Amino acid sequence: MGTLMRLFSPPPATQSCQFFHSFNPPFSFPRTCGTSSRNTPFKAQSSERGNFLDLKPEAKPEFLDFDIPQFDTSTRSSSDVIIIGTGPAGLRLAEQVSQHGIKVCCVDPSPQSLWPNTYGVWVDEFESLQLESCLEKTWPRSCFYIDEDNVKYIDRPFGRISRKKFKTLLMERCLSNDVKFHKAKVLKIEHQEFESSIFCDDGNELKASLIVDASGFASTFMEYDKPRNHGYQTGHGILAEVDFHPFDLDKVVQLDWRDSHLRNEPSMLTRNSRFPTFLFAMPFDSSLIYLMETSLVGRPVLSYEEVKKRMVARLRHLGIRVKRVLEAEKCLIPMGGPLPRMSQEVMAMGGTSGLVNPSAGYMVASAMALAPVLAEAIVQCLGSTPMIRGQPLYDRVWKGLWPIERRCVREFYSFGMETLLKLDLNETRRFFDAFFDLDPYYLNGYLSSRLSPTELAFFSLSLFGNASVSSRVELLTKSAVPFVKMIGNLALEAKQYYI
Ligand SMILES: Cc1cc2nc3c(=O)[nH]c(=O)nc-3n(C[C@H](O)[C@H](O)[C@H](O)COP(=O)(O)OP(=O)(O)OC[C@H]3O[C@@H](n4cnc5c(N)ncnc54)[C@H](O)[C@@H]3O)c2cc1C
Repeated sequence: MGTLMRLFSPPPATQSCQFFHSFNPPFSFPRTCGTSSRNTPFKAQSSERGNFLDLKPEAKPEFLDFDIPQFDTSTRSSSDVIIIGTGPAGLRLAEQVSQHGIKVCCVDPSPQSLWPNTYGVWVDEFESLQLESCLEKTWPRSCFYIDEDNVKYIDRPFGRISRKKFKTLLMERCLSNDVKFHKAKVLKIEHQEFESSIFCDDGNELKASLIVDASGFASTFMEYDKPRNHGYQTGHGILAEVDFHPFDLDKVVQLDWRDSHLRNEPSMLTRNSRFPTFLFAMPFDSSLIYLMETSLVGRPVLSYEEVKKRMVARLRHLGIRVKRVLEAEKCLIPMGGPLPRMSQEVMAMGGTSGLVNPSAGYMVASAMALAPVLAEAIVQCLGSTPMIRGQPLYDRVWKGLWPIERRCVREFYSFGMETLLKLDLNETRRFFDAFFDLDPYYLNGYLSSRLSPTELAFFSLSLFGNASVSSRVELLTKSAVPFVKMIGNLALEAKQYYI
């Protein structure tokens, strides 16, 4: 526990939350970082008689403790690239673009704040990017409870990212490449033929040849030419000190679909059968564990209150008594849906660019891997003589991030998500029973969004081959409509891409 306890001591203390500042989520989260427990008297410690929802999260907002160079607004000089948002995607892109001598300014209301989310990644994904030093804890194996009698294991190390190490590393690289920062919220973007301006809430106007929106899922700066029919992953997570938990310390519980904890709650059991949630758990030691009750994907999104109630029932059934909530996290991730309109004047990166894996909700590793690809497209335009700017720049950067092959792959994942949306608990179990028996090449490739379209075709055949007879029937009937939609979307994408 040594390192971890140092990290969590003094215990961090807020409810982290990802909100949608002007995006309308299909259910309402409070607009401040509080939970329903804010309205009730907190118990100081221990959930002996109540449950963990009564405990106040102890974490406090954390900040990086070094100075960052401010963009000099008095000179009215412009940048080559302005990146809106210093989340993982924005900072990674900033360090990649700036290492080629391109002038980058990052704009964020609080660039020194530590990111609120708990990020997990497959270790090999971060190793291949030489980012493994940012992992604070790794587990050699993962397990997947399909039901009470069926557990699957995979031997693929999984890690929890240290938010502090990760942000510090990216920030230090940005500083050594002379990236500038401006502390403000961007309110509006305007475009001229070869230049764009952002207007900030501190009254400043900043100009650049290219604006990249990395402001996360709530962005209002992206344009779409199709209806935004996302699915939503939602969950409630806590980093908790507990008396006991039943999980092995060498394994992350990626999916626990067991529902025996709801046997005495018939209405919740019925709702869970139709709109299932699972437990995700990262055990740090015998008394420190991260737990998240999650709806893999829902449309409309599953109510947050329902997710929390199911979590309470599950923890009680597992005999987990929470003594302290160190951190609490609300999770709402839009998944799938259309990509932003290609070739628009503002480029997108990260959550706002459609990079989230529509079947899993993961994105960090993909954003880290694709930032250099987008950076290369930007550098080819803004680092050339004469500079390529205006519409040819926008065309090249959008196609750089989203070449037709990657768009086809994403369509396939969205198809996967649309199929999952139609499965009830038992159908979902049968699906994952076949999924986790796949050859590790296809299994790991799918989970890391790295299969080519041809490999995805083999993946599908192999999955179908592994499936039980009833699961095959379910897959054929439930995926028929999504499949037809996918073909239609692929045809449209191809048409738009080549025009
Ligand atoms: C709770 C949660 C847990 C997640 N866990 C994982 C995980 O384990 N693994 C994984 O791969 N993915 C995970 N994801 C999905 C995804 O990787 C994260 O959402 C990730 O943070 C997205 O990174 P980003 O840089 O695109 O945006 P964000 O991290 O959301 O960063 C956006 C930044 O933009 C700034 N900003 C917003 N609006 C403006 C504005 N108008 N002007 C200036 N700045 C602005 C914000 O202050 C913020 O700093 C999780 C998501 C959530 C919500």
